[in-house]
Amino acid sequence: MRQVNSGLTHSLLDALETARSQGYFTRLEQLYQELPQTTCTRRQACCGLLPPMAPLEMAWWFCGQRGESSKERGGAARRLLEYFLLNAVRRLPCPWAGPDSCQIYPRRFLGCRTYGLWSPEAYAARQEQAQEGQRRVVAAWAELGVELPAEVSAPGPEYCDQVRVASGPEPRDRDLELMEERLYEAGHDLPGLEYLQPWDGDLSYAVAGLALGRQQALALKVSVTQELLAGREEEAEELLAQARKRARDWSRAWPAPR
Ligand code: SF4
Repeated sequence: MRQVNSGLTHSLLDALETARSQGYFTRLEQLYQELPQTTCTRRQACCGLLPPMAPLEMAWWFCGQRGESSKERGGAARRLLEYFLLNAVRRLPCPWAGPDSCQIYPRRFLGCRTYGLWSPEAYAARQEQAQEGQRRVVAAWAELGVELPAEVSAPGPEYCDQVRVASGPEPRDRDLELMEERLYEAGHDLPGLEYLQPWDGDLSYAVAGLALGRQQALALKVSVTQELLAGREEEAEELLAQARKRARDWSRAWPAPR
C-alpha cells in the first residue's frame, strides 16, 4: 500500500470517496436503523473493550474523521494508538467510553448496538469464541517470552440483561446474525476496502498500523509491553510520547473530503 503525504493512502482515500458518493455509508446507517430502539440502565459493562468492527464500519469512521478538526482527529488517533500499544499490559475500556455515556453514541458500531439483544445462550457462545481468540493471543505473546497479566486475558463484557426494546419486536439471534453477514458483505465490492481488511476488525490496530507502519506498530507494542511489565515506566513513556507525536502528525495530514 503506497503511503502519500496525505497520511492516508491514495487507494484508501479513493475507497472512502467511492463509499461516500455511491451510498455505502447510507446503506450502513440504514442497516443500523433496522434495529429497534433500546433502553438500558447504563451499567457500562458493554463499553469495557473496543468493539470489533467490519471493514466498512472502519471506512465509515475514517470518513467521519476527515470532516473533524485536526485537533479532534489528533485526539482520536492518540486514544486509539494508546489503546493498541497498551492493551496487552492493561485492561482498557473502549476509547470512547465516557464517565456515564458513549462519546460517539449516534455513530457507534453494530457490535455496540446489538449488545444486550442477543439471547444469553448466543452471547455465551460468542464470548467463548472471543476467549478462544484471546487464548491464541496469550500463546503468541508467550512465544515472545512475554507473560501477559491475567487481567488482559480475562473474559470480555458479561452478558447484560438490562437492555430493553423500547418498541417493536425483539430481534432473534438469527436476525442479528444475518445483519452481521450483510454488514460484512456490504463492502465486498468496494475497491480499496481490502486495505482495511488486515487489521482483524481492530480499529486501534488499523490506526496504529496506518500511522506508524504495520511492522513498526507491532514492534513498538512489544517494546512498550516489555518495558511496562519490567517496571520501566519512563522508558515506556518515552516510546509512547514519540508514537503519539507521529500519530498526531499523521492524522493532521489528512486532506478534507472533496
Ligand atoms: S463505541 Fe460507544 S457504545 Fe460502543 S463500546 Fe465504545 S463507548 Fe461503548
